[in-house]
Amino acid sequence: MTAQIIDGKRIAAELRARTADEVARVKRDHGLMPGLAVVLVGNDPASEVYVRSKHTQTQAAGMASFEHKLPADVSQAALLELVGKLNADPAVHGILVQLPLPKGLNTEAVIAAIDPAKDVDGLHPNNAGRLAGGLRALSPCTPLGCIILTKSVHTSLEGLNAIVIGRSNLVGRPLVQLLLNENATVTIAHSRSRDLPGLCRQADLVYAAVGKAEMVRGDWIKPGATVIDVGITRIPTAEGKTRLVGDVAFDDAMQVAGAVTPVPGGVGQMTVACLLVNTLRAACAIKGLPAPAV
Ligand code: NAP
Repeated sequence: MTAQIIDGKRIAAELRARTADEVARVKRDHGLMPGLAVVLVGNDPASEVYVRSKHTQTQAAGMASFEHKLPADVSQAALLELVGKLNADPAVHGILVQLPLPKGLNTEAVIAAIDPAKDVDGLHPNNAGRLAGGLRALSPCTPLGCIILTKSVHTSLEGLNAIVIGRSNLVGRPLVQLLLNENATVTIAHSRSRDLPGLCRQADLVYAAVGKAEMVRGDWIKPGATVIDVGITRIPTAEGKTRLVGDVAFDDAMQVAGAVTPVPGGVGQMTVACLLVNTLRAACAIKGLPAPAV
């Protein structure tokens, strides 16, 4: 048996196209131009690549994109002042502070300073708390992308056994809440879990969000399961170059699973697409419009 490859690239492109259609509609019918502000502190090369991609895709969807670059030695007060200005700016509906922040800056305080209505990363305690309480909230983009990819295979997740490996605020915890909202039965695993392979083998849906290259082996996977690989690790190749791999041993998984996301070309593609969706949702909510149809 060979598993279906879940094509994150195609699914993300379709989501971006639907978002662009909705952006055009709210502009035409309501004079609303959704705007996303991205704040980049310092010059971490990986963060610069992400921010450039967010900028290009935001503009391609027809939304306004505002980039703010600050030096790595910016003071906490100056960063908070910028966040305060963006909170007050009516052209800005989404604020994303690119993480990780350079050492010396207090990430928790910066996230807490963002207006929860504009918190398109879904990391503000108000949004995290609302999500945990089963209320409507802006949810983190990567877990949202994981749910959309899963639904490309399963029309309903009701009653399915899911395992989420990893419990970070960015991925694992919000993903657990989104799966509960879909009525899945969820096991949360982490570095202290016992018999992880055995826990995994019971799951119809496997989400690996650890950051350990190819940790999930083929014999951890229940035949026919859907495997969503969030992990991204850069490893050296025999040719002296590097390549990206996920948390799942992809070739092994392909022999056992029903469907698998590749790395790259899976979850990573969905994260920015979901950021565009969140920005559009935030803009509609701030303007008092119904939630967009994306
Ligand atoms: P993180 O904050 O480092 O969290 C990793 C989690 O994995 C922790 O909860 C940790 O458990 C758990 N863990 C570590 N070793 C383990 C082990 N041996 N067995 C079971 N669990 C273990 O990482 P993150 O921010 O959630 O990111 C996870 C991965 O996803 C990374 O590779 C990251 O690059 C990738 N990522 C991808 C995207 C995307 O768009 N594709 C977005 C975000 C992140 P403890 O809590 O017990 O320490």
